[in-house]
Amino acid sequence: MSMKKNLNMQVPQHIRNVCDVLENAGYSAYIVGGSVRDMLLGVPPADYDIATAAKPDMIKSLFCETVSTGEKHGTIGVLSCGTMVEVTTFRADGTYTDHRRPDTVHFLDDISADLARRDFTINAMAYHLQHGLLDLYGGRDDIKNRILRTVGVPKERFTEDALRILRLFRFAARLNFDIEAESLQAAISLADSLRNVAKERVFTELRETVLHVLPSLLKRMEPIFAFVLPEALPLTDTKCALAAKCQAEAGKWAILCGDKTESALSRLSAPKRLRLAAKEFADYTPGRNLLLDIAKLKYNTPDAFAAFQGREDIPRIYEETRKAGLPVSPSELALSGKELYAMGFRGEQIGALLDKLFLYVTENSVNNNEEDLKEAIKKICKK
Ligand code: ATP
Ligand code: MG
Repeated sequence: MSMKKNLNMQVPQHIRNVCDVLENAGYSAYIVGGSVRDMLLGVPPADYDIATAAKPDMIKSLFCETVSTGEKHGTIGVLSCGTMVEVTTFRADGTYTDHRRPDTVHFLDDISADLARRDFTINAMAYHLQHGLLDLYGGRDDIKNRILRTVGVPKERFTEDALRILRLFRFAARLNFDIEAESLQAAISLADSLRNVAKERVFTELRETVLHVLPSLLKRMEPIFAFVLPEALPLTDTKCALAAKCQAEAGKWAILCGDKTESALSRLSAPKRLRLAAKEFADYTPGRNLLLDIAKLKYNTPDAFAAFQGREDIPRIYEETRKAGLPVSPSELALSGKELYAMGFRGEQIGALLDKLFLYVTENSVNNNEEDLKEAIKKICKK
């Protein structure tokens, strides 16, 4: 096996320790998967996965504190310097009958078949602390050229596990990589197998995709969305551009799904927080004052609102208001809800009053100081 040395990867000590224990006991140990990809990309990995020739029982006996929840698939959690590290025995997946999970896994002594079962070339590299990078599928070149490509024949790999189709787009969106032609074609032609993927998993993948996706990639996902997010069809160019531009996650979903936002997100079992925020976006009808509209959608930003409304001038209006020393939301008024409460106002009155004062201030009919605002309240109450 040819290995590239001198990559000078910054591997944290607690990971080195785990590899050293395994190696000293005579079992080869590699850092694998997403962590190697991230190190080569120069981004700090969220976590490190270690693959080893040691079988689960051996891993358990080599470390003081271990967790065995993933043991069936060969994964043992190992406590190292206070951090849990996942150590997985080299394995090959058995046959797939449900397009999702291998029916069996086989443990192996050698890492190459373990790398062969992995989804994309950029996720199929291994790093050995002494021997360096093991890159059997050209992952390093694909990282350099910013390309996502399956390990092996795309159609076969997506047929084995349909979730990989969504992972393909998620990584393309997150990393802003291109998708190699054959992999893209296979993913699209097998999109109907996404029916076999649990909605929670669909949502997790889609969420990160929607969060990062650029218009061109989003547009290409139309045949995929037909099976996982039909509420977003048709994916017009405008919709793709707006969804990508909107900075608020909730706004992106609302732009994509419009009045079907709520049903789409509950069908996908999205968290309540996101569902409510997206519904608020989708239901919102802009009123008489743009700044108030932005403030009302509390998950919003001027940019997001501009994208949602298709109005380029909103951020400028927002900035000019700020520069003029005017409040950009009712919360920036010289009178707060607390003070209104002290004045005897209760519940919905308070919000409504603040909105009204805010309109007066932005329309320059009242100055934003306590005295003038109190005076304005008196007039409003008389009416
Ligand atoms: P992230 O940074 O999002 O966690 P990751 O690459 O670490 O990305 P994981 O889902 O944590 O992704 O999986 C770890 C590794 O396991 C992947 O890098 C890949 O090698 C392999 N893998 C995960 N899911 C699959 C799958 N469905 N099919 C094939 N290989 C997979
Ligand atoms: Mg990971």
